[in-house]
Amino acid sequence: MRLLVTGGAGYIGSHTCKALAAHGHLPIAYDNLVYGNPWAVRWGPLEIGDIADRHRLDQVIRQYRPEGVIHFAAYAYVGESVKDPGKYYRNNVAGSLTLLEAMRDHGIPYLVFSSTCATYGVPEQIPIPETHPQRPINPYGQSKLMVEQMLRDFQLAYGIQSVSLRYFNAAGADPDGEIGEAHDPETHLIPLALEVAAGQRSHLTIFGDDYDTPDGTCIRDFIHVADLAQAHVLALEALAAGKPLQPAYNLGNGQGFSVREVIATAEAVTGKQIPVQVGARRPGDPPRLVGDATAISRDLNWRPRYTNLAEILQTAWCWQQKRPYFQRPRC
Ligand code: UDP
Repeated sequence: MRLLVTGGAGYIGSHTCKALAAHGHLPIAYDNLVYGNPWAVRWGPLEIGDIADRHRLDQVIRQYRPEGVIHFAAYAYVGESVKDPGKYYRNNVAGSLTLLEAMRDHGIPYLVFSSTCATYGVPEQIPIPETHPQRPINPYGQSKLMVEQMLRDFQLAYGIQSVSLRYFNAAGADPDGEIGEAHDPETHLIPLALEVAAGQRSHLTIFGDDYDTPDGTCIRDFIHVADLAQAHVLALEALAAGKPLQPAYNLGNGQGFSVREVIATAEAVTGKQIPVQVGARRPGDPPRLVGDATAISRDLNWRPRYTNLAEILQTAWCWQQKRPYFQRPRC
């Protein structure tokens, strides 16, 4: 299939383009390159454009006639979304609406949406099932929840078949070492820890160690980016095959690791010390997020290949060490 991948130059988008190509599809990466990296687009064309730019979307859709869309393009910094919510609602919500209207007008029938566990807010139950109430505690999660709702409405009104994949914490890098995580600015725990291990930063700040968790630091469920990518391919193929699906699925490993456990594992994998300082809590961080992904295993036969945190970190460490100079973070 020819598939438009919005945000295809981003971290999860680029890994999904690779997985799509491996399944015989043509990924057309559509990215405004605000946070995306052109070097990460290697398995199909890169079309530079913004999801809010209807004219540009029309051009690209007319040129390639995509049969489906995988929609990653979004701002995804929780902390920034608390400080600058308008940026998140404008890009993530209004931009997605423009994309959906373009799909409707061009008759593109399938969409897989990159959603998030941040739509759940502070969980009442662990692991979190898809049926858990969705009460986001930051504008990032709220913006993704709004798009999930729009997708249900567009499905009913115009027959656009869609599925939302709610990721827990994406981690790791392409096992072949071709692409990996490269945010600028980098704010995520694992790449920051590895940059400290690589001597590119002096220390890591732990955002709060007074949470109600065994070691006081937040607990997260880390899922390998290649496993996430595989799930998108399966979801798109299932939609196109007319398989009945839930509106949304969790994507996680079902296991939680604290920030301190992640740092200790990073020290073990890299053989380096990672100096830490304890700082204030980061606004918008729920204490514990662990997902129940049994539904997607059942419906799409999806199984994560990387269930071991050290193995996930190992792929990220390989990438961290082999990144060419121009891909290195500015510290
Ligand atoms: N975190 C931290 N120090 C950092 C970056 C992150 O303590 O420099 C914590 C953060 O507060 C959260 C966890 O690590 O509890 C995972 O954060 P990340 O930004 O990697 O992913 P998120 O959970 O926001 O998607």
